[in-house]
Amino acid sequence: MEWTRSETLALAMHHCAQCHGSGLRLARKGLLTPCNCVLRSIFRICFSRFEKCVTQERHLSRISQEPHSGRNRPTTWGRKDEEYIADFCLVAKRHLTEAEHSLFRYHFLLGADWKLCSRKLGVDRGTFFHAVYRIEQKLGRVFRELQPYPLFPLDDYFHGPSRIGPQPAPTLKPARPADLSVMPLWAGPLRFPPVGRTA
Ligand SMILES: [Zn+2]
Repeated sequence: MEWTRSETLALAMHHCAQCHGSGLRLARKGLLTPCNCVLRSIFRICFSRFEKCVTQERHLSRISQEPHSGRNRPTTWGRKDEEYIADFCLVAKRHLTEAEHSLFRYHFLLGADWKLCSRKLGVDRGTFFHAVYRIEQKLGRVFRELQPYPLFPLDDYFHGPSRIGPQPAPTLKPARPADLSVMPLWAGPLRFPPVGRTA
């Protein structure tokens, strides 16, 4: 996907030393790439929504109707909050290394602070925060670039239309000509029931 300034400007940190608030910076090959401050912002917005979905009362989670553009099934029903919780955890597990996922689980999912994580994982404070920044940047990019359903922007995820396109028309097989050689031969005259009686 192509990152644009109109998207990154609102997410960038104004005092960022790398992008100076624009949200984009030049990569090695001369291409514009999102700044790490933008990727971290995306992760934090998604994580904040995850926390809300996980901690809210169960009765607040609602069933939502999702429109389709296909002709076979105009709408489906879903529980968006639960789907988002599952997507958030599964995407993180799929894209992080084993060591990164351990830290992600302790710190973000179980709520352990840096002291507890440092003791549990055997890392010092600096290593812990560097790893947290790296995880935030990695997942921020994945949440935005995921196809076909990115987790960010959240409005598109929770209220956007389904991207399932129209179903292709079924292909009809041409009818085969009847094989007359296997048809049973007519064995006798036609017999009709008597008039006034029904079979
Ligand atoms: Zn920046």
